[in-house]
Amino acid sequence: MIEKYTKIEGKCFFCNETFSKTGINRHLQSHLMQKVQENAAGLSYLIKVEQEVQKGSSIYFLSLWVDGKTTLERIDSFLRDIWLECCGHLSSFTDPKKRRHASLLTMLEAEELLEQNKIKEYEKIMENEVGEIPMSRKASKVFNKGSKLEYQYDFGSTTSLVLTAIDEYPMRADQPIVLLSRNEPLELLCDTCKKEPATQLCIVHEWEGNYMFCDKCAKKHAKRCEDFENYAAMPVVNSPRMGVCGYDGGHIDTERDGIFVKKH
Ligand SMILES: [Zn+2]
Ligand SMILES: [Zn+2]
Ligand SMILES: [Zn+2]
Ligand SMILES: [Zn+2]
Repeated sequence: MIEKYTKIEGKCFFCNETFSKTGINRHLQSHLMQKVQENAAGLSYLIKVEQEVQKGSSIYFLSLWVDGKTTLERIDSFLRDIWLECCGHLSSFTDPKKRRHASLLTMLEAEELLEQNKIKEYEKIMENEVGEIPMSRKASKVFNKGSKLEYQYDFGSTTSLVLTAIDEYPMRADQPIVLLSRNEPLELLCDTCKKEPATQLCIVHEWEGNYMFCDKCAKKHAKRCEDFENYAAMPVVNSPRMGVCGYDGGHIDTERDGIFVKKH
């Protein structure tokens, strides 16, 4: 159901106007171009973050204004706070142009370095042999206009994202990371009554398609489905990690993290 989603919109947080997913970044570029006159010299980027999908395009997006001095570590924690964090899984950034599968021997060697706390040597092997970029690296050292970075959170039930540098600017960003836009909460309706906004999902029924419920239908479902009562009920949230592992929502811009508001 969610894969067929077509209407994706985001508000510009500079002027509060609403744009389609395809138009928002072009619009944000015009604001940023104006800000180049006002801001101090430096380097910053307009970064689009999307879910990595096999077919079509991502329904979820973030538009970030990232200062060149911001480390990947800081971007990692921002992504965790807005979209991902459930139980402190590992994560990594990879340069797709350098991504490769290292031999088992190399990976063992890397692991050994990590155990010996030889972080610099470990990072060097991971970068050269796997394409993984150290978290300490600054945005200005990894992004150029048009460049892409892959990001993975949780190597078990992985959420994969792609970061694209839409544009680069000769100015400092207002903060290390500024959220400029994100997709508004998707208009997900209850699969049962097909009228009310879905508020919960039952993960054991996810593959059957009929798994999103409004509050009223969730109560009825709980009577039929023991799993739902015990562990399988998850909240509807505005993130590509909805329903995965223990993810139950973010801590940044919580206003847009919930259920859509029905227009009357
Ligand atoms: Zn605007
Ligand atoms: Zn988890
Ligand atoms: Zn319902
Ligand atoms: Zn169920």
